[in-house]
Amino acid sequence: MSKRDYYDVLGVAKSATKDEIKKAYRKLSKKYHPDINKEPGSDEKFKEITEAYEVLSDDAKKAQYDQFGHEGPNQGGFGGGGFSGFGGGFEDIFSTFFGGGGGRRRDPNAPRQGDDLQYTMTLTFEEAVFGVEKDITIPKEENCSTCGGNGAKPGSSPETCSHCAGSGQISVEQNTPFGRVVNRRTCPQCSGSGKVIKERCSTCSGQGRVTKNKKINVKVPAGIDEGQQIRLSGQGEAGINGGPAGDLYIVFRVMRHELFERDGDDIYCEMPVTFVQASLGDEIEVPTIHGKVKLKVPAGTQSGTTFRLRGKGVANVRGYGTGDQHVHVKVITPVKLNEKQKQLLREFAEVSGEQPSEEDGFFDKVKRALKRD
Ligand SMILES: [Zn+2]
Ligand SMILES: [Zn+2]
Repeated sequence: MSKRDYYDVLGVAKSATKDEIKKAYRKLSKKYHPDINKEPGSDEKFKEITEAYEVLSDDAKKAQYDQFGHEGPNQGGFGGGGFSGFGGGFEDIFSTFFGGGGGRRRDPNAPRQGDDLQYTMTLTFEEAVFGVEKDITIPKEENCSTCGGNGAKPGSSPETCSHCAGSGQISVEQNTPFGRVVNRRTCPQCSGSGKVIKERCSTCSGQGRVTKNKKINVKVPAGIDEGQQIRLSGQGEAGINGGPAGDLYIVFRVMRHELFERDGDDIYCEMPVTFVQASLGDEIEVPTIHGKVKLKVPAGTQSGTTFRLRGKGVANVRGYGTGDQHVHVKVITPVKLNEKQKQLLREFAEVSGEQPSEEDGFFDKVKRALKRD
């Protein structure tokens, strides 16, 4: 199933403001949250909404999505990390409207690990088999070097928010038919950060973070396969409040080969042989990823017979041996015969008798079946 457009998912226009996106998300996630909505499919719907919001609420990810869509740059996908999880910004927003009681609450000033990033890299068949080194460029958020990440103009520093005394949360008392309920909400003054910046850093407009294109050298291990991934520790988004950086996950796509098909560490290919070679036997040359190999085709080989070339497959990515190459022989029936060839074949048929001689009695079975009608 192809992915729906994130703007469609949230039901907002492409020009929607951050606030409108947030509002739309709150409305939808309330409706489809699995704790509330027990209808089948609401779970999936909820995940879709969350994923859309995680991208559209993040300036860097949104910019990427607007430019490249779901696929991302360089034929490579570029989704934010942790789409399936409920970490990151999600928890903060969610707790504000399911209010009060229970649940973990974050100290806004505590160090937090940066987001993980995911990058999809497309490899040729050979690159996947033998490994390769590639440079990739990814836009990622880093701490602003002008202000050191605190968002304040150099020479000034962020002040503790007086509204919430730096906790980022305020308590709101409400009278309800069930009694008085105390809800904790994100502080509107500081948006939950616990700090107020009087003079903003002009480089990052007070965000403390800037998006930079970063070149990363990726060593693709030999034997990697479609759908597998590697993790580059600490190459994700910068941490918050001095926390560690997230990780970068590289997910691999492998292009098809015109001759070979791969299944795990084994390689499959089809080899055409003439009916003369199949009948009389021959030594043929078979291409493998390691170069040409001679294969003995015994006399009387049937079309569809498979031969195994041991160790001519892919070296296992974790070092557990090497796969085989399976050669599927296909006997080609000759076309465009000249008169001489036709004559020889007629003679061949005459000498052979009415039916081809054949060992497992397949033709006999067909003959019997024909007689029954
Ligand atoms: Zn700055
Ligand atoms: Zn505050």
